[in-house]
Amino acid sequence: MPDFSLTEEQSSLREMARKFARTEMAPKAAECDRTPRFPEEVYRKAWELGLMNLNVPAEYGGSGLSALDQCLIVEELAYGCAGMTTSIIANCLALEPILLGGTEEQKRRFLPPFCAEYHLASFCLTEPAGGSDAGAISTRAKRHGDGYRLTGEKCFITNAPHASLYTVFATVDPELRHKGISAFVVPRSAPGVTPGKDEEKMGHRASSTSTVRFEEVEVPPSDRLGAEGDGFPIAMRTLDQTRTPIGALATGIAQAALDHAAAYSLKRHTFGKPISEHQAIQVKLADMATRVQASRLLTWSAAARIDRGEPGTLDSSIAKTFASDAAFAVADDAIQIHGGYGYMKEYPVEKLLRDAKLTQIYEGSNEIQRIVIARELLKRYA
Ligand SMILES: Cc1cc2nc3c(=O)[nH]c(=O)nc-3n(C[C@H](O)[C@H](O)[C@H](O)COP(=O)(O)OP(=O)(O)OC[C@H]3O[C@@H](n4cnc5c(N)ncnc54)[C@H](O)[C@@H]3O)c2cc1C
Repeated sequence: MPDFSLTEEQSSLREMARKFARTEMAPKAAECDRTPRFPEEVYRKAWELGLMNLNVPAEYGGSGLSALDQCLIVEELAYGCAGMTTSIIANCLALEPILLGGTEEQKRRFLPPFCAEYHLASFCLTEPAGGSDAGAISTRAKRHGDGYRLTGEKCFITNAPHASLYTVFATVDPELRHKGISAFVVPRSAPGVTPGKDEEKMGHRASSTSTVRFEEVEVPPSDRLGAEGDGFPIAMRTLDQTRTPIGALATGIAQAALDHAAAYSLKRHTFGKPISEHQAIQVKLADMATRVQASRLLTWSAAARIDRGEPGTLDSSIAKTFASDAAFAVADDAIQIHGGYGYMKEYPVEKLLRDAKLTQIYEGSNEIQRIVIARELLKRYA
Protein backbone atom coordinates (compact mmCIF):
# COMPACT_ATOMS: atom_id res chain seq x y z
CA MET A 1 0.00 0.00 0.00
CA PRO A 2 1.57 3.33 -1.01
CA ASP A 3 2.20 5.85 1.75
CA PHE A 4 -0.10 8.81 1.21
CA SER A 5 1.09 10.95 4.10
CA LEU A 6 1.51 14.39 2.59
CA THR A 7 4.78 16.31 2.72
CA GLU A 8 4.82 19.74 4.33
CA GLU A 9 4.94 21.28 0.86
CA GLN A 10 1.91 19.26 -0.30
CA SER A 11 -0.03 20.22 2.80
CA SER A 12 0.64 23.91 2.23
CA LEU A 13 -0.25 23.64 -1.50
CA ARG A 14 -3.51 22.00 -0.49
CA GLU A 15 -4.15 24.65 2.15
CA MET A 16 -3.49 27.46 -0.35
CA ALA A 17 -5.93 25.93 -2.88
CA ARG A 18 -8.50 25.37 -0.12
CA LYS A 19 -8.30 28.98 0.99
CA PHE A 20 -8.57 30.25 -2.59
CA ALA A 21 -11.57 28.00 -3.27
CA ARG A 22 -13.41 29.05 -0.13
CA THR A 23 -12.67 32.78 -0.26
CA GLU A 24 -12.55 33.54 -4.01
CA MET A 25 -14.56 30.82 -5.74
CA ALA A 26 -17.33 29.58 -3.44
CA PRO A 27 -18.80 33.03 -2.68
CA LYS A 28 -19.31 33.63 -6.43
CA ALA A 29 -20.32 30.10 -7.41
CA ALA A 30 -24.10 30.51 -7.13
CA GLU A 31 -24.15 33.83 -8.99
CA CYS A 32 -21.91 32.57 -11.82
CA ASP A 33 -24.08 29.46 -12.10
CA ARG A 34 -27.34 31.42 -12.19
CA THR A 35 -26.37 34.22 -14.57
CA PRO A 36 -24.30 32.39 -16.08
CA ARG A 37 -21.02 34.31 -15.90
CA PHE A 38 -17.40 33.50 -16.80
CA PRO A 39 -15.57 35.02 -13.79
CA GLU A 40 -12.37 36.12 -15.47
CA GLU A 41 -11.26 37.92 -12.28
CA VAL A 42 -11.23 34.57 -10.45
CA TYR A 43 -9.22 32.93 -13.24
CA ARG A 44 -6.68 35.77 -13.24
CA LYS A 45 -6.23 35.41 -9.48
CA ALA A 46 -5.83 31.64 -9.85
CA TRP A 47 -3.13 32.31 -12.43
CA GLU A 48 -1.40 34.82 -10.11
CA LEU A 49 -1.29 32.20 -7.34
CA GLY A 50 0.19 29.57 -9.68
CA LEU A 51 -3.01 27.49 -9.72
CA MET A 52 -3.12 27.35 -13.53
CA ASN A 53 -0.63 25.58 -15.85
CA LEU A 54 0.02 23.07 -13.05
CA ASN A 55 1.59 20.54 -15.43
CA VAL A 56 4.05 22.95 -17.10
CA PRO A 57 7.57 22.24 -15.80
CA ALA A 58 9.41 24.99 -13.93
CA GLU A 59 11.98 25.29 -16.76
CA TYR A 60 9.20 26.78 -18.94
CA GLY A 61 7.93 28.95 -16.10
CA GLY A 62 5.13 26.69 -14.84
CA SER A 63 4.37 25.14 -11.45
CA GLY A 64 5.92 21.81 -12.52
CA LEU A 65 3.82 19.86 -10.07
CA SER A 66 3.57 16.10 -9.78
CA ALA A 67 0.31 14.36 -10.75
CA LEU A 68 -0.50 13.88 -7.06
CA ASP A 69 0.12 17.56 -6.27
CA GLN A 70 -2.21 18.51 -9.13
CA CYS A 71 -4.94 16.24 -7.74
CA LEU A 72 -4.63 17.78 -4.28
CA ILE A 73 -5.18 21.24 -5.77
CA VAL A 74 -7.97 20.25 -8.16
CA GLU A 75 -10.03 18.55 -5.44
CA GLU A 76 -9.88 21.67 -3.28
CA LEU A 77 -10.79 23.99 -6.17
CA ALA A 78 -13.74 21.79 -7.18
CA TYR A 79 -15.03 21.94 -3.62
CA GLY A 80 -15.43 25.70 -4.21
CA CYS A 81 -16.88 25.48 -7.74
CA ALA A 82 -16.53 22.66 -10.26
CA GLY A 83 -17.34 24.89 -13.24
CA MET A 84 -14.62 27.39 -12.39
CA THR A 85 -12.23 24.48 -11.84
CA THR A 86 -12.95 23.13 -15.32
CA SER A 87 -11.92 26.49 -16.76
CA ILE A 88 -8.85 26.78 -14.50
CA ILE A 89 -7.49 23.36 -15.46
CA ALA A 90 -8.33 23.62 -19.19
CA ASN A 91 -4.86 25.07 -19.81
CA CYS A 92 -3.32 21.84 -18.49
CA LEU A 93 -5.39 19.87 -21.01
CA ALA A 94 -4.56 22.23 -23.90
CA LEU A 95 -0.83 22.48 -23.16
CA GLU A 96 -0.24 18.78 -22.44
CA PRO A 97 -0.02 17.87 -26.20
CA ILE A 98 2.82 20.39 -26.49
CA LEU A 99 4.58 18.83 -23.49
CA LEU A 100 4.13 15.33 -24.91
CA GLY A 101 4.61 15.93 -28.63
CA GLY A 102 6.50 19.20 -28.94
CA THR A 103 10.18 19.67 -29.73
CA GLU A 104 12.33 21.63 -27.28
CA GLU A 105 12.03 24.64 -29.61
CA GLN A 106 8.21 24.37 -29.64
CA LYS A 107 8.04 24.03 -25.85
CA ARG A 108 10.23 27.12 -25.42
CA ARG A 109 8.12 29.06 -27.93
CA PHE A 110 4.60 28.09 -26.79
CA LEU A 111 4.74 27.40 -23.04
CA PRO A 112 6.51 30.36 -21.34
CA PRO A 113 3.97 32.98 -22.56
CA PHE A 114 1.26 31.15 -20.56
CA CYS A 115 3.37 31.31 -17.42
CA ALA A 116 4.57 34.90 -17.90
CA GLU A 117 1.07 36.32 -18.37
CA TYR A 118 -2.55 35.24 -17.91
CA HIS A 119 -3.68 33.53 -21.14
CA LEU A 120 -6.09 30.70 -21.80
CA ALA A 121 -5.66 27.81 -24.22
CA SER A 122 -8.12 25.20 -25.48
CA PHE A 123 -7.83 21.55 -26.45
CA CYS A 124 -9.74 20.96 -29.70
CA LEU A 125 -10.45 17.29 -30.34
CA THR A 126 -14.23 16.79 -30.23
CA GLU A 127 -16.33 17.42 -33.35
CA PRO A 128 -20.07 17.51 -33.90
CA ALA A 129 -19.98 14.01 -35.45
CA GLY A 130 -17.08 12.54 -33.47
CA GLY A 131 -16.63 12.64 -29.69
CA SER A 132 -16.02 9.18 -28.31
CA ASP A 133 -14.86 7.93 -31.69
CA ALA A 134 -11.92 10.32 -31.98
CA GLY A 135 -10.54 8.35 -34.93
CA ALA A 136 -13.53 9.54 -36.97
CA ILE A 137 -12.72 13.27 -36.84
CA SER A 138 -13.13 15.06 -40.16
CA THR A 139 -11.38 18.41 -39.65
CA ARG A 140 -9.02 18.35 -42.61
CA ALA A 141 -5.34 19.25 -42.65
CA LYS A 142 -4.69 19.69 -46.37
CA ARG A 143 -1.04 19.80 -47.29
CA HIS A 144 -0.25 23.23 -48.73
CA GLY A 145 3.33 23.99 -49.73
CA ASP A 146 5.49 22.96 -46.75
CA GLY A 147 2.62 23.38 -44.34
CA TYR A 148 -1.13 22.78 -44.01
CA ARG A 149 -4.53 24.39 -44.35
CA LEU A 150 -7.02 23.41 -41.64
CA THR A 151 -10.76 23.33 -42.33
CA GLY A 152 -13.48 21.98 -40.09
CA GLU A 153 -15.44 22.50 -36.89
CA LYS A 154 -14.77 21.48 -33.29
CA CYS A 155 -17.47 21.49 -30.63
CA PHE A 156 -17.85 21.57 -26.82
CA ILE A 157 -14.45 23.25 -26.50
CA THR A 158 -13.76 24.55 -22.98
CA ASN A 159 -12.71 28.22 -22.80
CA ALA A 160 -12.68 28.51 -26.61
CA PRO A 161 -14.13 32.06 -26.82
CA HIS A 162 -11.48 33.30 -24.34
CA ALA A 163 -8.44 31.34 -25.53
CA SER A 164 -5.46 32.79 -27.33
CA LEU A 165 -4.13 29.41 -28.50
CA TYR A 166 -5.65 26.12 -29.61
CA THR A 167 -4.15 22.64 -29.82
CA VAL A 168 -6.06 21.16 -32.73
CA PHE A 169 -6.37 17.60 -34.02
CA ALA A 170 -6.99 17.26 -37.76
CA THR A 171 -6.63 14.58 -40.41
CA VAL A 172 -4.78 14.51 -43.71
CA ASP A 173 -7.18 11.79 -44.86
CA PRO A 174 -10.29 10.66 -42.92
CA GLU A 175 -10.03 7.22 -44.60
CA LEU A 176 -6.84 6.63 -42.62
CA ARG A 177 -8.80 7.13 -39.36
CA HIS A 178 -6.43 7.23 -36.33
CA LYS A 179 -3.34 7.03 -38.52
CA GLY A 180 -4.24 10.16 -40.48
CA ILE A 181 -4.51 12.48 -37.48
CA SER A 182 -1.89 15.10 -36.62
CA ALA A 183 -1.74 17.65 -33.81
CA PHE A 184 -1.25 21.35 -34.51
CA VAL A 185 -0.82 24.53 -32.49
CA VAL A 186 -3.02 27.33 -33.85
CA PRO A 187 -3.12 30.88 -32.51
CA ARG A 188 -6.57 32.42 -32.11
CA SER A 189 -5.30 35.35 -34.21
CA ALA A 190 -4.71 33.18 -37.31
CA PRO A 191 -7.02 34.22 -40.16
CA GLY A 192 -9.94 31.80 -40.52
CA VAL A 193 -10.27 30.87 -36.81
CA THR A 194 -13.74 31.64 -35.39
CA PRO A 195 -14.89 30.56 -31.93
CA GLY A 196 -18.66 30.27 -31.56
CA LYS A 197 -21.08 31.52 -28.92
CA ASP A 198 -21.17 30.10 -25.41
CA GLU A 199 -23.36 27.00 -25.10
CA GLU A 200 -26.17 27.06 -22.49
CA LYS A 201 -25.18 24.24 -20.17
CA MET A 202 -26.83 22.20 -17.40
CA GLY A 203 -23.87 22.63 -15.05
CA HIS A 204 -20.32 24.03 -14.98
CA ARG A 205 -21.97 27.27 -15.99
CA ALA A 206 -19.06 29.42 -14.78
CA SER A 207 -17.03 27.71 -17.49
CA SER A 208 -17.27 28.61 -21.14
CA THR A 209 -17.91 26.04 -23.87
CA SER A 210 -18.27 26.67 -27.59
CA THR A 211 -17.55 25.54 -31.11
CA VAL A 212 -14.44 26.65 -32.98
CA ARG A 213 -14.55 26.93 -36.77
CA PHE A 214 -11.36 26.62 -38.85
CA GLU A 215 -11.66 27.90 -42.41
CA GLU A 216 -8.57 27.37 -44.59
CA VAL A 217 -6.35 28.23 -41.62
CA GLU A 218 -2.68 28.27 -42.65
CA VAL A 219 -0.42 26.30 -40.31
CA PRO A 220 3.35 26.19 -40.89
CA PRO A 221 5.10 22.81 -40.49
CA SER A 222 6.92 24.26 -37.46
CA ASP A 223 3.55 24.30 -35.61
CA ARG A 224 2.78 20.60 -36.07
CA LEU A 225 3.42 18.56 -32.91
CA GLY A 226 5.33 15.33 -33.56
CA ALA A 227 5.43 13.65 -36.96
CA GLU A 228 2.49 13.62 -39.37
CA GLY A 229 0.12 10.93 -38.06
CA ASP A 230 1.25 11.24 -34.42
CA GLY A 231 -1.88 13.17 -33.41
CA PHE A 232 -4.03 10.30 -32.16
CA PRO A 233 -1.43 8.88 -29.74
CA ILE A 234 -0.66 12.42 -28.56
CA ALA A 235 -4.37 12.99 -27.82
CA MET A 236 -4.74 9.65 -26.01
CA ARG A 237 -1.57 10.15 -23.95
CA THR A 238 -2.80 13.65 -23.07
CA LEU A 239 -6.08 12.26 -21.76
CA ASP A 240 -4.19 9.57 -19.79
CA GLN A 241 -2.52 12.45 -17.91
CA THR A 242 -5.56 14.70 -17.48
CA ARG A 243 -8.15 12.04 -16.57
CA THR A 244 -6.79 11.60 -13.03
CA PRO A 245 -7.42 15.26 -12.10
CA ILE A 246 -11.03 14.74 -13.27
CA GLY A 247 -11.23 12.03 -10.59
CA ALA A 248 -9.99 14.67 -8.13
CA LEU A 249 -12.50 17.21 -9.44
CA ALA A 250 -15.33 14.71 -8.93
CA THR A 251 -14.04 13.97 -5.41
CA GLY A 252 -14.19 17.69 -4.58
CA ILE A 253 -17.85 17.81 -5.67
CA ALA A 254 -18.64 14.69 -3.62
CA GLN A 255 -16.88 16.02 -0.50
CA ALA A 256 -18.86 19.27 -0.75
CA ALA A 257 -22.12 17.30 -1.10
CA LEU A 258 -21.27 15.15 1.94
CA ASP A 259 -20.36 18.18 4.06
CA HIS A 260 -23.58 20.02 3.19
CA ALA A 261 -25.70 16.94 3.82
CA ALA A 262 -24.10 16.01 7.15
CA ALA A 263 -24.40 19.58 8.46
CA TYR A 264 -28.04 19.79 7.33
CA SER A 265 -28.90 16.42 8.91
CA LEU A 266 -27.81 17.71 12.32
CA LYS A 267 -30.03 20.79 12.08
CA ARG A 268 -33.21 19.44 10.47
CA HIS A 269 -35.68 17.83 12.85
CA THR A 270 -38.46 15.37 12.06
CA PHE A 271 -40.45 13.21 14.50
CA GLY A 272 -38.89 15.09 17.42
CA LYS A 273 -35.21 14.54 16.63
CA PRO A 274 -32.54 15.60 14.16
CA ILE A 275 -32.78 13.55 10.94
CA SER A 276 -29.13 12.51 11.58
CA GLU A 277 -30.55 10.25 14.30
CA HIS A 278 -32.68 8.29 11.84
CA GLN A 279 -30.79 5.20 10.73
CA ALA A 280 -31.89 5.55 7.11
CA ILE A 281 -30.10 8.91 6.99
CA GLN A 282 -27.03 7.53 8.79
CA VAL A 283 -26.76 4.72 6.25
CA LYS A 284 -26.85 7.28 3.43
CA LEU A 285 -24.15 9.40 5.12
CA ALA A 286 -22.00 6.31 5.69
CA ASP A 287 -22.28 5.28 2.03
CA MET A 288 -21.52 8.83 0.93
CA ALA A 289 -18.40 9.02 3.12
CA THR A 290 -17.25 5.62 1.86
CA ARG A 291 -17.61 6.74 -1.75
CA VAL A 292 -15.75 10.00 -1.09
CA GLN A 293 -12.84 8.24 0.58
CA ALA A 294 -12.63 5.51 -2.07
CA SER A 295 -12.68 8.16 -4.83
CA ARG A 296 -9.85 10.09 -3.19
CA LEU A 297 -7.70 7.00 -2.66
CA LEU A 298 -8.22 5.69 -6.20
CA THR A 299 -7.34 9.11 -7.57
CA TRP A 300 -4.22 9.45 -5.44
CA SER A 301 -3.18 5.90 -6.29
CA ALA A 302 -3.51 6.58 -10.05
CA ALA A 303 -1.58 9.84 -9.66
CA ALA A 304 1.17 8.13 -7.66
CA ARG A 305 1.54 5.51 -10.41
CA ILE A 306 1.88 8.25 -13.04
CA ASP A 307 4.46 10.01 -10.82
CA ARG A 308 6.46 6.78 -10.64
CA GLY A 309 6.58 6.83 -14.45
CA GLU A 310 4.46 3.67 -14.76
CA PRO A 311 1.68 3.29 -17.37
CA GLY A 312 -1.38 5.11 -16.02
CA THR A 313 -4.13 4.21 -18.50
CA LEU A 314 -5.89 1.57 -16.39
CA ASP A 315 -5.62 3.32 -13.03
CA SER A 316 -6.61 6.76 -14.32
CA SER A 317 -9.65 5.29 -16.11
CA ILE A 318 -10.69 3.41 -12.96
CA ALA A 319 -10.24 6.53 -10.79
CA LYS A 320 -12.14 8.84 -13.17
CA THR A 321 -15.00 6.37 -13.67
CA PHE A 322 -15.42 5.49 -10.01
CA ALA A 323 -15.06 9.05 -8.70
CA SER A 324 -17.46 10.56 -11.25
CA ASP A 325 -20.15 7.90 -10.69
CA ALA A 326 -19.59 8.35 -6.94
CA ALA A 327 -19.92 12.15 -7.18
CA PHE A 328 -23.25 11.80 -8.99
CA ALA A 329 -24.55 9.29 -6.41
CA VAL A 330 -23.31 11.35 -3.44
CA ALA A 331 -24.83 14.57 -4.80
CA ASP A 332 -28.10 12.70 -5.38
CA ASP A 333 -28.08 11.48 -1.75
CA ALA A 334 -27.27 15.01 -0.55
CA ILE A 335 -30.42 16.28 -2.29
CA GLN A 336 -32.45 13.44 -0.77
CA ILE A 337 -31.19 14.28 2.72
CA HIS A 338 -32.21 17.91 2.15
CA GLY A 339 -35.72 16.80 1.13
CA GLY A 340 -37.70 19.50 -0.72
CA TYR A 341 -35.10 22.15 0.11
CA GLY A 342 -32.51 20.11 -1.75
CA TYR A 343 -34.53 20.64 -4.92
CA MET A 344 -34.48 24.41 -4.49
CA LYS A 345 -31.81 26.59 -6.04
CA GLU A 346 -31.51 28.45 -2.75
CA TYR A 347 -29.54 25.45 -1.42
CA PRO A 348 -26.19 24.47 -2.96
CA VAL A 349 -26.75 20.74 -3.46
CA GLU A 350 -28.79 20.75 -6.71
CA LYS A 351 -25.87 22.53 -8.43
CA LEU A 352 -23.54 19.78 -7.23
CA LEU A 353 -25.67 17.14 -8.99
CA ARG A 354 -25.67 19.16 -12.23
CA ASP A 355 -21.90 19.65 -11.96
CA ALA A 356 -21.25 16.00 -11.13
CA LYS A 357 -23.07 14.88 -14.30
CA LEU A 358 -20.42 16.34 -16.60
CA THR A 359 -17.63 14.37 -14.93
CA GLN A 360 -19.29 11.17 -16.23
CA ILE A 361 -19.23 12.55 -19.78
CA TYR A 362 -16.14 14.62 -20.56
CA GLU A 363 -12.49 13.56 -20.95
CA GLY A 364 -13.84 10.24 -22.26
CA SER A 365 -17.33 9.17 -21.21
CA ASN A 366 -17.63 6.49 -18.53
CA GLU A 367 -18.87 4.00 -21.15
CA ILE A 368 -15.62 4.52 -23.06
CA GLN A 369 -13.63 4.34 -19.80
CA ARG A 370 -15.18 0.96 -19.04
CA ILE A 371 -14.14 -0.26 -22.51
CA VAL A 372 -10.60 0.94 -21.76
CA ILE A 373 -10.60 -0.68 -18.31
CA ALA A 374 -11.82 -4.02 -19.72
CA ARG A 375 -9.26 -3.89 -22.55
CA GLU A 376 -6.36 -3.16 -20.19
CA LEU A 377 -7.60 -5.78 -17.73
CA LEU A 378 -8.00 -8.54 -20.29
CA LYS A 379 -4.43 -8.01 -21.50
CA ARG A 380 -3.39 -9.46 -18.13
CA TYR A 381 -5.36 -12.64 -18.73
CA ALA A 382 -4.49 -13.19 -22.41
C1 LIG B 1 -19.02 20.98 -20.94
C2 LIG B 1 -18.15 20.16 -21.85
C3 LIG B 1 -16.82 20.53 -22.01
C4 LIG B 1 -16.01 19.81 -22.91
N1 LIG B 1 -14.71 20.24 -23.14
C5 LIG B 1 -14.02 19.69 -24.17
C6 LIG B 1 -12.75 20.25 -24.60
O1 LIG B 1 -12.23 21.22 -24.01
N2 LIG B 1 -12.14 19.71 -25.69
C7 LIG B 1 -12.66 18.64 -26.36
O2 LIG B 1 -12.05 18.22 -27.33
N3 LIG B 1 -13.84 18.08 -25.98
C8 LIG B 1 -14.53 18.58 -24.92
N4 LIG B 1 -15.75 18.03 -24.55
C9 LIG B 1 -16.27 16.90 -25.30
C10 LIG B 1 -16.40 15.60 -24.50
O3 LIG B 1 -15.13 15.05 -24.26
C11 LIG B 1 -17.32 14.68 -25.31
O4 LIG B 1 -18.63 15.21 -25.19
C12 LIG B 1 -17.30 13.24 -24.84
O5 LIG B 1 -16.05 12.66 -25.15
C13 LIG B 1 -18.41 12.41 -25.47
O6 LIG B 1 -18.47 12.59 -26.85
P1 LIG B 1 -19.89 12.95 -27.56
O7 LIG B 1 -20.49 14.07 -26.81
O8 LIG B 1 -19.65 13.12 -29.00
O9 LIG B 1 -20.77 11.66 -27.32
P2 LIG B 1 -20.87 10.40 -28.28
O10 LIG B 1 -19.49 9.94 -28.64
O11 LIG B 1 -21.81 10.68 -29.37
O12 LIG B 1 -21.51 9.31 -27.33
C14 LIG B 1 -22.91 9.31 -27.01
C15 LIG B 1 -23.16 8.23 -25.96
O13 LIG B 1 -22.81 6.95 -26.50
C16 LIG B 1 -21.83 6.35 -25.68
N5 LIG B 1 -20.94 5.56 -26.53
C17 LIG B 1 -20.23 6.01 -27.61
N6 LIG B 1 -19.50 5.02 -28.15
C18 LIG B 1 -19.73 3.92 -27.36
C19 LIG B 1 -19.28 2.56 -27.38
N7 LIG B 1 -18.37 2.14 -28.27
N8 LIG B 1 -19.75 1.72 -26.45
C20 LIG B 1 -20.63 2.13 -25.51
N9 LIG B 1 -21.11 3.40 -25.43
C21 LIG B 1 -20.66 4.27 -26.36
C22 LIG B 1 -21.13 7.48 -24.96
O14 LIG B 1 -20.52 7.06 -23.78
C23 LIG B 1 -22.30 8.42 -24.71
O15 LIG B 1 -22.98 7.98 -23.58
C24 LIG B 1 -16.54 18.68 -23.60
C25 LIG B 1 -17.86 18.30 -23.41
C26 LIG B 1 -18.67 19.02 -22.56
C27 LIG B 1 -20.11 18.61 -22.41
